Amino acid sequence: MLTPAIIQKFTEIKTPFYYYDLELLKKTLSAAKKEVDKYGFHLHYAFKANCTSEILKTIHTFGLGADCVSGNEVKCAIENGYASEHIVFAGVGKSDDEINYALDQDIFCFNSESLQELEVINELATQKNKIAKIALRLNPNVDAYTHKYITTGLEENKFGINAHELDKVLALLKRLKNLKLTGLHFHIGSQITDLNPFRKLCTKVNEFTTLMEQKGIHLEHINVGGGLGINYKEPDTEAIPDFESYFKIFHEMIKLRKGQELHFELGRALVANCGSLISRVLYIKNGINTNFAILDAGMTELIRPALYQAYHKIENLSSNSDSYKKYDVVGPICESSDCFGKAVDLPETKRGDLIAIRSTGAYGEVMASNYNLREKAHSVF
Ligand SMILES: *Cc1c(COP(=O)(O)O)cnc(C)c1O
Repeated sequence: MLTPAIIQKFTEIKTPFYYYDLELLKKTLSAAKKEVDKYGFHLHYAFKANCTSEILKTIHTFGLGADCVSGNEVKCAIENGYASEHIVFAGVGKSDDEINYALDQDIFCFNSESLQELEVINELATQKNKIAKIALRLNPNVDAYTHKYITTGLEENKFGINAHELDKVLALLKRLKNLKLTGLHFHIGSQITDLNPFRKLCTKVNEFTTLMEQKGIHLEHINVGGGLGINYKEPDTEAIPDFESYFKIFHEMIKLRKGQELHFELGRALVANCGSLISRVLYIKNGINTNFAILDAGMTELIRPALYQAYHKIENLSSNSDSYKKYDVVGPICESSDCFGKAVDLPETKRGDLIAIRSTGAYGEVMASNYNLREKAHSVF
């Protein structure tokens, strides 16, 4: 919640900047951890959502593991105190250097996505005389009903091993002596707010574990990924996602074998709502249908609207005018897609007003670029 006292502080800070509410982050983490502990599940934080050190350290104090998708994320996890046995390394294109680094760190497991990658991990592990632990990322062919750029669990997506390849993969694994198959991994997409795709995922997971059991393969863990969405429309009334319903689905539906662990990798649901991008209006310009409010923040600080037509709530923190107008809220970058919202209802807005773009804690700062040679915006906690 951006209270008047906080907004008063903002007036003294150079814009644009990312504002993080660590109290809300802690409340969110407690809520998630409570449900996870209820069922004895294991929760990893998906680093790619936000890698700010303060955030990583706060999350670490709640005992979460790390879900990494690059060698540098693995390194970042270790530097921020995450134990290597709680680090998973996923990603559709891991380079040899990244694999070598992760092997040296003895991480919990590689979530592997292709036949060729398995051969490469085996070869590099053999050179080091190590056994690499592997979870196969399977493509469950479940539609997450989310934006096409953030749906990942359909056969047409580049992610995961498709069911028709599974026998080939298992035959290969028998030959690769420096790999140990320890688990299965799934991740169907992101910003999923309808819980039904998760129910479908559970059904698919059960089919796959039964199949593996029939083949005599024992799995130590099942990882069902992340993807739980947040309420971008109402970041104050629903600041914390419904973790209770989410985890309950898996508790009720997934049939775990004796001793088998269930792992989750949440990113957005944990960090999105604790962040806001704070900016100032540089100019108001009259358009044909609506006016433009031109901000000092742009797609370089938050690319989600340009990249996936994502909605973020926009608020004018300075104006207390009763007269509302429609504005196209845009950034200063030389791209027409550099627009945070079209025809946004805002109180009469003028040069110098502070604008908050809400729910930017996930996939905001981590996707920043210095396009147009812009400076990196700073963070305030
Ligand atoms: C991005 C990603 C996540 C986290 O997704 P959220 O939607 O932020 O929860 C989890 N697992 C994998 C493999 C990912 O790529």
